[in-house]
Amino acid sequence: MSEKIGFLGLGHMGAPMAANLVRAGYEVLAFDPVPAAREQAERDGATVVETAAGTTEANTVITMLPNGKLVLEVYRELLAAAKPNTLFIDCSTIDVADAKAAAELATAAGHRAIDAPVSGGVGGAQAGTLTFMAGGEAADFGAALPLLEVMGGKVVHCGASGVGQAAKICNNMLLGASMVALSESLVLGEKLGLSHQSFFDVVSTASGQSWALTTYCPVPGPVPTSPANNDYQPGFATALMAKDLGLAANALRANGVASEIGLLAAQIYERFNQTDGGRDFSAIVTDIRNRSDQEGGQ
Ligand code: NAD
Repeated sequence: MSEKIGFLGLGHMGAPMAANLVRAGYEVLAFDPVPAAREQAERDGATVVETAAGTTEANTVITMLPNGKLVLEVYRELLAAAKPNTLFIDCSTIDVADAKAAAELATAAGHRAIDAPVSGGVGGAQAGTLTFMAGGEAADFGAALPLLEVMGGKVVHCGASGVGQAAKICNNMLLGASMVALSESLVLGEKLGLSHQSFFDVVSTASGQSWALTTYCPVPGPVPTSPANNDYQPGFATALMAKDLGLAANALRANGVASEIGLLAAQIYERFNQTDGGRDFSAIVTDIRNRSDQEGGQ
C-alpha cells in the first residue's frame, strides 16, 4: 500500500505540487475549501477529503497556504487530531515568527515540523523543479527530503526552525530591491539616449550585472523569455512580491536591522500593488517611466 500524505492548500502552487506526489506513487489526501480546487485534485488522482482533519490519516501533512495566520489556524485545527509524531511540512511563504510559532505548536503537541518555503513559481511547481529552503531539526528535514525531492530540483537545509523562511525573504528582498534599482537605471539610460540593447550588452558583463537583468530583463528585447516581452503577464506577480517584501520589512524591524533600501523596496512595491498587483513585478519599470515622464514634464 502506498504511503499517505496529507496536503492542504490546492491553489496555483499546491495543486501541481500535490499532482507530482501522486505521480510519484504517494496517496495524497487533499483538502481545500474551494470546490474547484478539490475537483482539480480529484482529476489529478488525489484522494479528496471533505474536511481539513481528514488529512490527518496520513503520517505527513504538507501545507501550501496564502499566509501565516491561516497556517497557524490550520495547525491548531489539525494538531489534536493528528497521529502522534506526524511530520508537518509548511511550504507556504510566511513570517519567520509565524513559522517558528507553528513549529512550536506542533512539537508541543508531540509532532515534528519543518518550514520549507519554495522559489520557482508555478512553472517550477508544475515541472517539479522548485527550490526548497528548509528550517528545522536535521532528522525531520531528512524525513521530509524524499518528498521535497519529488516536488523540487534543489533542496537546501538552511538551519533551525524558521531559517527556511529567513532564506526566502532575504532572497526576495534582494530581488525586489535590485529590480527597482535596475529599473531606475534603465529609465535613466533612456533619458540619456542609451538603448536597452546597449545597456544590456554593457551591464550584463559589467559590475552592475544581476539576475534581474540577465534572466528577467524588465524591458522587452534583450532577454526574449522575460515577462516584459509578454505584456508583463506573471511570472511572479507584483502582489506576491509586495507580500514577500512586507514579510522582509517585518523581519528587518523585528531584528533591528539598520535597513533603508529593503524598507523602501517594500513601500515601492506596496504602492505599485495598489494599481498593478496582477502584473509581473518587473513592470515596476513602466511605473518609474510613467512617473518620470509626469514629474519630468512639470
Ligand atoms: P493560492 O491563493 O493560489 O492558493 C492557496 C490555496 O489555499 C487556495 O486554493 C485556498 O483556497 C487554500 N486555502 C485557504 N484556506 C485553506 C484551509 N484552511 N485549508 C486548506 N486550504 C486552504 O496561492 P499560491 O500562489 O498557490 O501560493 C501559496 C503559497 O506559496 C503562498 O504562501 C505564496 O506566497 C507562496 N508562493 C507562491 C509562489 C507563486 O508563484 N504563486 C511562488 C513561491 C511561493
